[in-house]
Amino acid sequence: MRRLLLALPFAMLPLAVAHAADEHDHDHEHGSLGAHEHGVGRLNAVLDGQTLELELESPAMNLVGFEHAAATDADKAKVAAVRSQLEKPLTLFNLPTAAGCGVASQKLQSPLFGDKPDADDDHDKDAKDEHHHDHSEIHARYQFTCTTPAALKNLDLANIFNTFPATQKIQVQLIGPSGQQGVEVTAKAAALKF
Ligand SMILES: [Zn+2]
Repeated sequence: MRRLLLALPFAMLPLAVAHAADEHDHDHEHGSLGAHEHGVGRLNAVLDGQTLELELESPAMNLVGFEHAAATDADKAKVAAVRSQLEKPLTLFNLPTAAGCGVASQKLQSPLFGDKPDADDDHDKDAKDEHHHDHSEIHARYQFTCTTPAALKNLDLANIFNTFPATQKIQVQLIGPSGQQGVEVTAKAAALKF
């Protein structure tokens, strides 16, 4: 169900990506927060002409190792380090230099970064909800402009797995010149074709 919901707004891309994702989060915030699985990240990727858009959605656990608000200095340092890594998407996503991609915009969002958590008031009404404990996600959305998009042959996520080893797999929805595909990638098979 989650995949299908992701795929539908995704089909309206590329320019609507941010808007569609926002609507998705808003409409399904309860389900998406309760349903996230530690170790599993999600990535939407769209290559359209010279524009590449990447949207990484991950349980905070995969990236920082916890999901509570950072309280100790050690926690805060960890969050800051992860944020810094996410702010270097050209490295993180290993985009080939030959493609000439530059970051046109990027946005990071997480309760751990001080953003307002998604409202989930109805969680509180059901103390028996097994997902009642606090889950937090980190969402990163990037738009690149690439002068030579033909050089983007593969999307190689190896650096994501290297940088965030608690990530076991990433469910990728990709739209590129050869159409739309849904692929689950792991550290051992971290690349897929555009
Ligand atoms: Zn969680």
